[in-house]
Amino acid sequence: MSYVLGLKCRECGQHYPQKGVHVCEVCFGPLEVQYDYSAMRGRVTRQSIESGGLNLWRYRDLLPIEGEPRTGLNSGFTPLRRARNLEKILGVKELYVKDDSANYPTWSYKERVVSVAITKAAELGYDTVGCASTGNLANSVAAHAAMAGLKAFVMIPHDLELGKVLGSLIFNPTMVRIQGNYDDVNRLCSEIADKYKWAIVNVNLRPFYTEGAKTFGFEVAEQLGWKLPRHTVCPTAGGTILPKIYKAYREFIDLGLVEDNHPKIYSAQAAGCNPVVEAIHAGRDLIKPQKPKTIAKSIAIGNPADGYYVVQAVKQSGGWGADATDQEIVDAIRLLARTEGIWTEPAGGTTLAATIKLIQSGRIPRDESICVCITGNGLKTVEVVVDQLAQPPSIPARLEAFDAYIHDSQTPAAAGAGNPVMTAGKA
Ligand SMILES: *Cc1c(COP(=O)(O)O)cnc(C)c1O
Ligand SMILES: [Zn+2]
Repeated sequence: MSYVLGLKCRECGQHYPQKGVHVCEVCFGPLEVQYDYSAMRGRVTRQSIESGGLNLWRYRDLLPIEGEPRTGLNSGFTPLRRARNLEKILGVKELYVKDDSANYPTWSYKERVVSVAITKAAELGYDTVGCASTGNLANSVAAHAAMAGLKAFVMIPHDLELGKVLGSLIFNPTMVRIQGNYDDVNRLCSEIADKYKWAIVNVNLRPFYTEGAKTFGFEVAEQLGWKLPRHTVCPTAGGTILPKIYKAYREFIDLGLVEDNHPKIYSAQAAGCNPVVEAIHAGRDLIKPQKPKTIAKSIAIGNPADGYYVVQAVKQSGGWGADATDQEIVDAIRLLARTEGIWTEPAGGTTLAATIKLIQSGRIPRDESICVCITGNGLKTVEVVVDQLAQPPSIPARLEAFDAYIHDSQTPAAAGAGNPVMTAGKA
């Protein structure tokens, strides 16, 4: 059974049936899925959710599909880890990492939105799906379209990391590199959606797509033992995930599944592309578009579609925002790896670096629970660390050679000596 009533304009309240539209014909406001929450009460319970599979569809009563899921049956329900080593280093009492670098099958939070959008596209009768992407979305659309047996058309900026490009191509979509930045790709995809009648997951299927991001927040709450973290730090690109995590928390509170601890949510961006954090700091609701210049390419969106709603969620919750320079991003990637054994990409480095700043500035108190949202995997972006890691020594395959290496490496002179910078990635 489905609790979906239809689509509704977020600005003027106009109703629409469920179809591939995302903008209100009356006022050009964005459309959002509307649910019958009163019918859910008493029916959507901790028990009903716990009886579902260990994947994102255990929350299907709160997702906009009518029939059976078409894909994503192995996606979601990623680890929520208590980060005790980081707690010590940062001097905080209770820190968690929600780790979507381990999300199946393409290792980012995008599995969540794509599983819902592709299921919906099939339900609405589309045979071709597509996206405008900074890389991870294209990977996920290409893989899930392959699983669901749909044609995929993915569009990316021309200058993405090799791992992100190959991570789509291997699934055999039609892929086009656009000579411009993400905002140019997105504008083109809006025109394509109108003209070709495809399901562009983050354009005309956006109302359904964005709902999938709620599952990140649902999982955090359930995995914490049906509790909310007091502080949640989340990266912002187009502005989908942050407001939807907050919405997930509010839905669980309203359904009586968790206690209201007044959860606060914080936006993390790269200093080289920080239009939302800049607006939060300036106390403005409107976003001033920027030209991105950062290694955090997956979140380099200068004109975020839902930036306004990120600012609203942050303000409403009493949260804040912080940005990080490229070097701070790489340092945080390495810190998370060596303390917790998690290799994230620059979006995750940005989020951890921002968390550290929010703690140091006193915005996040050290004695309250904190959740850091890790949204992507570092193996796709080796470029950002290749120059920062030392080449390991190479020795003959003899025990004396190893003994000599151990002896030398423990003498004071060798301790601080750097090895040659690794260049394997470029060779
Ligand atoms: C897409 C993406 C985000 C966030 O994007 P939103 O559009 O704000 O939801 C964060 N991290 C990674 C790794 C991503 O790929
Ligand atoms: Zn409207």
